[in-house]
Amino acid sequence: MLKDFLTYKNQILHFGLGQHDLSSWVATYQGPIYFYDLQFVKIRAKQMRAAFPKANIYYAMKANSNLEIMKALRAEGFGADIVSAGEMKVALAAGFQPSEIIYSGVGKTKAEIDLALSNEIKQINVESVPELLRIAARASALGKIANISLRLNPNVDIKTHPYIATGLHENKFGMEYSVIPEVVEILQKNLQHLRLAGISLHLGSQMLEFEGLAEALRKQKKVFLELQNQFSTCQNFDAGGGLGILYQERDLQKEESLLQKYAAVVQSELMDIPCQLQLEPGRWVVGHAGALLSQVQYIKTTPYRNFVILDAGMVHLIRPALYQAYHSIEPLRLPDASVQKQKYDVVGPICESADFFAKDREMLPLQQDDFVLIMDAGAYGAVMSSDYNLQVEAKEVVL
Ligand SMILES: *Cc1c(COP(=O)(O)O)cnc(C)c1O
Repeated sequence: MLKDFLTYKNQILHFGLGQHDLSSWVATYQGPIYFYDLQFVKIRAKQMRAAFPKANIYYAMKANSNLEIMKALRAEGFGADIVSAGEMKVALAAGFQPSEIIYSGVGKTKAEIDLALSNEIKQINVESVPELLRIAARASALGKIANISLRLNPNVDIKTHPYIATGLHENKFGMEYSVIPEVVEILQKNLQHLRLAGISLHLGSQMLEFEGLAEALRKQKKVFLELQNQFSTCQNFDAGGGLGILYQERDLQKEESLLQKYAAVVQSELMDIPCQLQLEPGRWVVGHAGALLSQVQYIKTTPYRNFVILDAGMVHLIRPALYQAYHSIEPLRLPDASVQKQKYDVVGPICESADFFAKDREMLPLQQDDFVLIMDAGAYGAVMSSDYNLQVEAKEVVL
């Protein structure tokens, strides 16, 4: 069982399971720094593997493609779930074998498909009929057999932010069940170049309840059995990723019981069908393992608001701007116990009003030059950064 990973000793914040004292970074500080606790990542990987003893688990590396994290996850027995040629190159550089890589995403280019085919990766998750036709054509041109899995869209709601829901009719991801007859025809016409390895789904991210997932699995199961009847190679049942974390409560024990619930739903739904289970977790494995260190530049007080202006902004961590996501913000050094909390808007330097980390947040008082740690930024943090306003990228440090 994991304890909390944020502790104060002598009023100084110590981050991660290793209780790393980040105040030693202050003297040489030149701009925002992402810190990752590798031990945390490894333990989460072990927990996930223990919850799914028979699954092949592919880490959705778009959540955090840091090379050391990737290597650690490979050592824990994970494969890689990629969404671009760029990610394929990093996965290979991190030591993943092509047979440990599966490839998702709606917009694979010819060049990307060629790279996947020539590397002979494990599986391409196909998201549309035109993509399937393109893969067949490229496999034929290159004299290869493409192992494909059909990403199907079961149209279920997992009650998450609309920008991270992916399993509804209105979403661009996956294929509708109605195209399956057409897909089967294409597969039968291209047996020498397409091998149906299985089916896939991914309903979205930050899933904290599993009724939608159970419903989707029941729907997919029927389709899987029908396809397996026609194509004996159809063996893999890919249940996607999406398990969420508790950004506000940060209760690791509760998250472990969420993992158990999730595992029970997936494994009990699939118990009665002959398949190899595949999973694609991202956020759950790395989300809590990262934090962003930033320095207060100004405290700006108006008749309406108290602004804490940081040197980190939406270019370094875009989740609050993009999804109104919550991240707790903790001082590197605790003030005296006697001080009162205050309400702040915590914002960045970027010339956009969406550039905020918290609004109307009750926090311990901050002062110019203080440091804060923006917590739970290990997933969809550094990987989503940009250089808008020509801001300098955050450094990444693996502890
Ligand atoms: C993003 C993504 C994942 C991982 O989602 P998490 O919520 O980070 O677990 C898995 N599969 C696919 C296809 C994805 O796009």
